[in-house]
Amino acid sequence: MILDGRIVAQKVLAEVRGGVERLRAATGVRPALAVVLVGDDAPSKIYIANKKKAADGVGIDSRDFIYPQGLGRAQLLELMGRLNRDPAVHGILLQLPLPDGLDADEAIAAIAPTKDVDGFHPENLGRLLAGSPTVVPCTPAGCLEILDHYGADLKGAEAVVVGRSVVVGKPLAQLLLARHATVTMCHTRTRDLAAHTRRADILCVAAGRAGVVTGGMVKEGAWVVDVGVNRLQSGKVVGDVDFESVQRRARGVTPVPGGVGPMTVAMLMKNTLAAAERQTKR
Ligand code: NAP
Repeated sequence: MILDGRIVAQKVLAEVRGGVERLRAATGVRPALAVVLVGDDAPSKIYIANKKKAADGVGIDSRDFIYPQGLGRAQLLELMGRLNRDPAVHGILLQLPLPDGLDADEAIAAIAPTKDVDGFHPENLGRLLAGSPTVVPCTPAGCLEILDHYGADLKGAEAVVVGRSVVVGKPLAQLLLARHATVTMCHTRTRDLAAHTRRADILCVAAGRAGVVTGGMVKEGAWVVDVGVNRLQSGKVVGDVDFESVQRRARGVTPVPGGVGPMTVAMLMKNTLAAAERQTKR
């Protein structure tokens, strides 16, 4: 079975659209997302174009704050402060990576936790770790949404996460743990990756390495979520999983493109609506 992220994303976006309409009808408030881009990283420009398109589609107001490569540290922090104080802005999206010379951790920490719609602020990550999350990072949340949509049973399942980044692997492991999976995390120092992946009922791969998981490394009937996005020399975009061989063994696998990618954008919209709802209620 192909786990189609586009279908699940459409479902989430339809729910968000309904929520935006209800919020506007009840309070007159239209959720607004500030999109901050520094420099001219080409993939970042494509990502923010997709995010803005999704925002338009659900009735969220997206506002651009686009700066050239040379933006200084003080100017970036001043911008964050200004957006934090602006009551008409409910969510702040700082597109990563930042150009050399700017510290992403510092800039993320400067975003008000209530407006951190990516869920990367240390306070929000801490809440996730403590088991009472307010905002969950979009890509891991999207992975869970796909698994839930297709009926994967997480409780008691052996879950293996390949990759331990703060953006994907670590929060994803926490979400799986919170749903009572038994979680193993793998990384570049893992001695025998295949020995771990072969035990997985739920296998989530976020390594950023094309073909790191092949069919022979997957348990028969497993659910496989491929987070990776890799551009081959030919220009083709593939995931971390060898789709053809894995599809023959897995119960379900997400394609790339069309799997986790659309979910990330949809969950960002969901987080922005939730942030606007929380700020409006106060
Ligand atoms: P990252 O920060 O580079 O982290 C990659 C992780 O994978 C690291 O923990 C690394 O281990 C591990 N790893 C790398 N090669 C490995 C191997 N051969 N065996 C086992 N572990 C390995 O990347 P990221 O930000 O988490 O992103 C991962 C992938 O997901 C990338 O392709 C990225 O483009 C994609 N992504 C997609 C979306 C989406 O919306 N679809 C969103 C975010 C990211 P060490 O810690 O030991 O180095």
